[in-house]
Amino acid sequence: MKLLGGHVSVTGGVRNAPERARTVTCDCMQIFSKNQMQWASKPLDLEDAEQYKANMVAHDIRETVIHDSYLINLGSPDNALLKRSREAFLDEVVRAKHLGVRNLIFHPGAHMGAGEQAGLKRVADSLNWVRKESGSGNVRFVLENTAGQGTVLGHSFEQLAKVIGMLDDQKNVGICFDTCHGYVAGYDVRSSDGYEKTFDLLDEVLGIEMVRAMHINDSKGKQGSHLDRHEQIGKGFLGLECFGHFMNDDRWDGIPMVLETPEGEKGYEQELKTLRSLVVK
Ligand SMILES: [Zn+2]
Ligand SMILES: [Zn+2]
Repeated sequence: MKLLGGHVSVTGGVRNAPERARTVTCDCMQIFSKNQMQWASKPLDLEDAEQYKANMVAHDIRETVIHDSYLINLGSPDNALLKRSREAFLDEVVRAKHLGVRNLIFHPGAHMGAGEQAGLKRVADSLNWVRKESGSGNVRFVLENTAGQGTVLGHSFEQLAKVIGMLDDQKNVGICFDTCHGYVAGYDVRSSDGYEKTFDLLDEVLGIEMVRAMHINDSKGKQGSHLDRHEQIGKGFLGLECFGHFMNDDRWDGIPMVLETPEGEKGYEQELKTLRSLVVK
């Protein structure tokens, strides 16, 4: 069974997200646990967190994944920015813990001109620091593959594997595959043949069991364009045939597959209907 959902707003408190998700037929959801465009944020309201947990059950949302703030760059060569990023990421881990969220999804970072190897090493050092500071806990660090625009790291399976290889804690780590990012980074997930090859490669380089979440987005950019512009399902270069591959691949059963498409919650009901209709019974 596929676990489908979308990224939903936490306006008015995290407690409101499960109902919002259910209203547009999500079975799982992704949230930001705080304002993703601000460094400073109020500490998590514990009463809100408790209410959120009750609402997850009431609205039958099976799993929540958290996406970290867009400001965080765990690979920054600027020491002040790096420190800020690490502290903000630690806060993300603490919030995830309080909400009982297992999978924390994040973009590895950008090297900002310092070079790929230095950047990947810094990302791994950052994650090791956060893991140590946050204690044992079981919040999983889920690295998302990126579009690879500019100096952004994590656009190839090899880069993700390099970071993971440098982590002290090899148990609580995974990856999130974003269909749009994968395609514009150069992976042909569109053709049947390309799809098979992409995930054979992923299995070889990372291990298929590392995939803990997926972002299901169509793409405004062409293959290899490195353009990070999501499109509504069926309206971009990936198209419905491509999503048919994903919907009929039982390797993704039970893994949260969430939309991050431009219409947001307004578009999800129709898009989820489309995705569900692609399942060949
Ligand atoms: Zn992302
Ligand atoms: Zn994504």
